Amino acid sequence: MSDGNPDFTLLRVARLIDGGAGRPVERGAILMRGGEIVAAGPEERVVPPEGAPVHEVHYEDKTALPGLVDCHVHLTGFGDGRSGDELATLPDELLTLQAARNAAAHLRSGVTTVRDCGAKNRTTFMLRSAYDMGIAAGPRLSLAGRPLAIVGGHLSYFGIAATGEIECRAHVRQLVKEGADFIKVTATGGSTRTSFPTRPSFSPDELAAIVEEAHSFGKHTVAHCASTQGMVNALDAGIDTIVHGMFVEPDGSWLYRPELAERIARQAVFVNPTIHNGRGRMLELEARRGASGLPDGDQAELDGLRRRDEERLSAFAAMRDAGVRLVCGSDSAWSEYAMGGFQHEVATHVEGGMSPSEAILSATSASARSCWMDGEVGTLEPGKRADVLVVDGDPTQDLGALWNVADVYLDGERVERGGLA
Ligand SMILES: [Zn+2]
Repeated sequence: MSDGNPDFTLLRVARLIDGGAGRPVERGAILMRGGEIVAAGPEERVVPPEGAPVHEVHYEDKTALPGLVDCHVHLTGFGDGRSGDELATLPDELLTLQAARNAAAHLRSGVTTVRDCGAKNRTTFMLRSAYDMGIAAGPRLSLAGRPLAIVGGHLSYFGIAATGEIECRAHVRQLVKEGADFIKVTATGGSTRTSFPTRPSFSPDELAAIVEEAHSFGKHTVAHCASTQGMVNALDAGIDTIVHGMFVEPDGSWLYRPELAERIARQAVFVNPTIHNGRGRMLELEARRGASGLPDGDQAELDGLRRRDEERLSAFAAMRDAGVRLVCGSDSAWSEYAMGGFQHEVATHVEGGMSPSEAILSATSASARSCWMDGEVGTLEPGKRADVLVVDGDPTQDLGALWNVADVYLDGERVERGGLA
């Protein structure tokens, strides 16, 4: 926080994307003070008060946009292919240090807000304490702490295995006491060895108790759903965000259900599809294939993974047509997806049928709304935190420009990006 700095900073850019529905502004400017945006828009309309001290920065041929909001991270992960079961065997001290490293990497890449959807014990809460003490720095944090899981269920190795409404409510209260900003629940199994990915977890009454308890504290809820029945149960319970959103039947087959998508849209529930993270194994097999091809078993696996990827992209397109609020979250550093590459997931939203401009909104303003942080971040508007990403080129023409990070501002302060600047 830079509340001590009374001076204005004025950024002049070739192009300004404010995170709203309007077109980008040519020759834009952003005026910031004390970590807050004072004004943003066409440069002739962004004028500091007469005589005020102003630090001015000119970015020729560059675009400014809201700092990216990654609505789904796991800060303690490594993204090196290790499983969650393996990750959870590491001591909390090492996981907290890893979280600090990941947070810094994501910030340098242009992400100024993250929502952490589950970590072991108090590790991410300790990262926040480290921020507060000035011994670590990174993006703004929205934290779940430990996810709620059933006995043996997905992510239960992070510290909670709850049974019955009373235990569920008690865990929510405990997490809120420890500093949780929202509640993450695994409504189906997942990659966890002892879990059942195509089956729902928690009874409908347990799920409803979790959501009701969270809402009573003014906290939102996020449900991991690797199958269709998990989504149905989460919707019945009044969940706020569905992650993964996979239309998978109990036998593992894919079946898109239009009536379910319509219900998601009607209930105004956000869906975070995590497409790129699902590609880890597929990309590895493709890289290994080379000129000589793959052994039969691997080739069959690759074919299956490609089919599933296509099914997920076509569900993305169909949900978008149905009016579902799709928001961008990487799910890094889970499985093979290292942090610092949120842009990969943003690109999948274009593959799923969004324009580059729409994909940018899904990774800024819409994502912030899903985190219940849109009062603070996600757009470049007066009164919001001065979190700004400056990139070379025009990402509304070529989304790849999001990789060309020139500068990142967090709370109005330029982030030191070391050799990457
Ligand atoms: Zn996740």
